[in-house]
Amino acid sequence: MKVDFLIVGAGFAGCTLAERIAVQLEKEVLLVEKRNHVGGNAYDYYNEDGILVQKYGPHIFHTNNKMVWDYLSQFTEWNNYVHRVLAKVKGKEVYLPINLDTMEKLFDRTFTPEELEDYFESRRVKVDEIKNSKDVVVSQVGEELYELFFKNYTKKQWGVYPDELDPQVTRRLPVRFNRDTRYFTDQYQGMPKHGYTKMFERMLDNRNIHILLNADYKEVVGETEYEKLIFTGPIDYFFNYKHGKLPYRSLDFKFETLSVERYQDAAVVNYPNDHDFTRITEFKHFYLQKHDKTTICYEYPKPEGDPYYPIPRAEYQEMYRKYEEEANKLNNVYFVGRLAEYRYLNMDQVVAGALELFNEV
Ligand SMILES: Cc1cc2nc3c(=O)[nH]c(=O)nc-3n(C[C@H](O)[C@H](O)[C@H](O)COP(=O)(O)OP(=O)(O)OC[C@H]3O[C@@H](n4cnc5c(N)ncnc54)[C@H](O)[C@@H]3O)c2cc1C
Repeated sequence: MKVDFLIVGAGFAGCTLAERIAVQLEKEVLLVEKRNHVGGNAYDYYNEDGILVQKYGPHIFHTNNKMVWDYLSQFTEWNNYVHRVLAKVKGKEVYLPINLDTMEKLFDRTFTPEELEDYFESRRVKVDEIKNSKDVVVSQVGEELYELFFKNYTKKQWGVYPDELDPQVTRRLPVRFNRDTRYFTDQYQGMPKHGYTKMFERMLDNRNIHILLNADYKEVVGETEYEKLIFTGPIDYFFNYKHGKLPYRSLDFKFETLSVERYQDAAVVNYPNDHDFTRITEFKHFYLQKHDKTTICYEYPKPEGDPYYPIPRAEYQEMYRKYEEEANKLNNVYFVGRLAEYRYLNMDQVVAGALELFNEV
């Protein structure tokens, strides 16, 4: 087959570039995807009970980037969903990020913003140099909240305690001195009204775009003539792991459909201290879907499996740099997206990166 562009991976990065190239440049694109569906990790579908669920865990769209919001809004309407997350601690359900409501419920007392500031001031641990994720947390909110919300959750999520993780994993801890219980404060937020997959299908509905599912890049590349290649898969795989394998933390998703209309009070409930799973998602909250049953999903972190979270350690950044150097030497090959850049990126950041790359190519 002969095309102008070969694009590998049909997630946000690949679909955005395919759409732009097909519409704006009127060039032929072959979009190769090894899974049996488009949408990458944001893929959603109606399960056998007719409930719209997300195959790879909860994906909530939020951004302050108007250009990205306007771009995607050509392909979908948005509902007004506002994301809220509860955590189950000390037998109570409290909102995250920590805010006045969280603290009042947790400690059975009232707080003014000033009293909360005093509370943290009296609990903060003096740390001369922030060396790890524990330092980040205890230096801001003290040991007690660290133990309640962060210590065990991090161990489940990453397999190690926060004092063994780079500070960047926790980075800045959002603690709020008001009663804003929204999880994200971005200007634009919501879910695609009819789901992500419908949105991707609209993006790709163009005669210049040819989609090949269930096909790995390496099976296709020898049989395709193209002028430019855009690769959104794992960069180490592209280079046959010549500098080593870039590690990821993975997840198992366990779905359950229950004969109740509603299972929990928020779309996502975190379990920092109990059970082996980190959180439970109930999908009906996202789309305000009316149904007499509900589907929930448990997330179990694990060390091997599909690549989800790059491991934030200096040695792996070093390994990635070697791949990046190789990538920069290639002509007419472009790397974009979370797997190609070995970075945790939100969906809006991936779209922004893809639109930027489009301007370049
Ligand atoms: C559990 C979880 C929850 C998340 N929640 C949010 C959220 O709430 N909000 C948010 O903004 N972001 C969220 N994200 C991040 C979001 O998933 C990413 O930003 C987004 O999926 C990145 O798009 P992408 O195109 O770079 O990668 P992907 O979506 O991973 O797409 C890459 C595609 O390339 C394909 N591919 C890989 N290798 C090959 C190959 N060799 N040949 C052919 N195809 C290949 C893959 O199958 C995949 O479909 C979450 C991530 C995870 C893991």
